[in-house]
Amino acid sequence: MEFSSKLLENAVNEIAMLPGIGKRTALRLVLHLLKQPSEQTLHLTEALLRMRNEIIYCKSCHNISDVEICEICNNETRDKRIICVVEDVRDVMAIENTNIFKGVYHVLGGKISPIDGIGPSQLNIASLIDKVKNELVDELIFALSSTMEGDTTNFYIYKQIKELNVKISTIARGISVGDELEYADEVTLGRSLMHRIPFESSIKSM
Ligand SMILES: [Zn+2]
Repeated sequence: MEFSSKLLENAVNEIAMLPGIGKRTALRLVLHLLKQPSEQTLHLTEALLRMRNEIIYCKSCHNISDVEICEICNNETRDKRIICVVEDVRDVMAIENTNIFKGVYHVLGGKISPIDGIGPSQLNIASLIDKVKNELVDELIFALSSTMEGDTTNFYIYKQIKELNVKISTIARGISVGDELEYADEVTLGRSLMHRIPFESSIKSM
């Protein structure tokens, strides 16, 4: 792609670094911004910068938050003894949309994936194990997507805590293998949570 302006080229290259956006789309977005009042670009860059610099992760569940302890963890009506283990903030949003779950979350920040060089130490797993050991926890619900990486991660955590006195369950597989949680519709996701099964019976059928 030949550009008539270095400034245009730089902007296109930066936007094209985002996943799913090729150079053509990036060029279209940049040209769109050029046609709009300059305040729009200012608001966009400000929103991105503030998001990047000011966002914090909840000290308890690692969910993205604006405060040290997120609204869910801070909510007195939520049952802290039931922890739903998810990959990232999108899963929290999807499960919250079902309006069924009244426990709290633990956001791992990814899944164990040796191919991508992601091991347990890069994820929020140690803090989860600590929580199960040191706080009053009745049940862990695994709600990772049923990919190989999701299963590996579930099993890794299961091995660390199976001797502890905590119930371990996994969401029922209304969600077919390989589907990401965030794409499941609310009714299906809500049902999979309600009809969760003991984790041990899920590994026997694997
Ligand atoms: Zn939290």
